[in-house]
Amino acid sequence: MSLVTTTEMFKKAYDGGYAVGAFNVNNMEIVQGITEAAGELKSPVILQVSKGARAYANHTYLVKLVEAAVEENPEIPIALHLDHGDTFELCKSCIDGGFTSVMIDASSKSFEDNIALTKQVVEYAHANGVVVEAELGTLAGIEDEVVVEAGKESYTRPEEVEEFVDKTGCDSLAIAIGTSHGAYKFTADQCTRNADGILVPPPLRFDVLEECIKRLPGFPIVLHGSSSVPQEFVKMVNEHGGKMPDAVGIPEEQLRQAAKLAVCKINIDSDIRLAMTGNIRKYFDEHPDHFDPRQYLKPARQAVKDMVAHKIKYVLGSDGKA
Ligand SMILES: [Zn+2]
Repeated sequence: MSLVTTTEMFKKAYDGGYAVGAFNVNNMEIVQGITEAAGELKSPVILQVSKGARAYANHTYLVKLVEAAVEENPEIPIALHLDHGDTFELCKSCIDGGFTSVMIDASSKSFEDNIALTKQVVEYAHANGVVVEAELGTLAGIEDEVVVEAGKESYTRPEEVEEFVDKTGCDSLAIAIGTSHGAYKFTADQCTRNADGILVPPPLRFDVLEECIKRLPGFPIVLHGSSSVPQEFVKMVNEHGGKMPDAVGIPEEQLRQAAKLAVCKINIDSDIRLAMTGNIRKYFDEHPDHFDPRQYLKPARQAVKDMVAHKIKYVLGSDGKA
């Protein structure tokens, strides 16, 4: 199987009450960890590349790594997606350069300007067999250069979604219902604390999601900023010389619930970073004399694989759906 678009994936996910994981890739170990998990569990998967990833690893290297993963995992559908494209030129460069899906994120612009830019990308993408994700509403948090202060985010307004999808022709829509980018999704005063002193974030706005679904029946919805920031990794980081106080994510039960509804794509990035960093810190701490990168990248890659397998089985519900 060669790279696919998300059209068929999302149709099956919508009807089947599950979501496809979209994981950010930046190097070989991450690509391998994710696709080995998806391959073994027979799950569709989306590998996504941000502007920052392209700047770090180079477009060609990333595309070739993903092509290698496709060749090694012929039994599962894999899509290659641009995460948070912010200009027509960036989207065009990815469409021309082998991606099967792009996101144009003009959510910080006015409603009219968001429609105009999204429509421009959709026209070029569709002419080239590529699908487009757009966004309405803004998430808090930090993702590459996209920085939105806590309190400046805005939930998606359901009354806008039909007109937006109708006028732009986009294939899926990212909405803001309380998820957030990064490992510090909420400030302490936005949360309560549980008995262990761990921050508990405010619940996702399922009322906003339900209203969007009602207005866009059958249409795939996307959730960004949906890492759960597993406390085992935060603890591992902190116990081995790191300092990540009060890192907090979205509870997995809420994501599972969203996946059963119209949410067909769930973006996970911070959990990959945490799994790798926690395990590398632990390895360095336990083996101060080792210096071969293969020694510490191997458990880091395994941790990514285990984490992704957990998401596929218990959060996304996409195992066996390839
Ligand atoms: Zn995002």
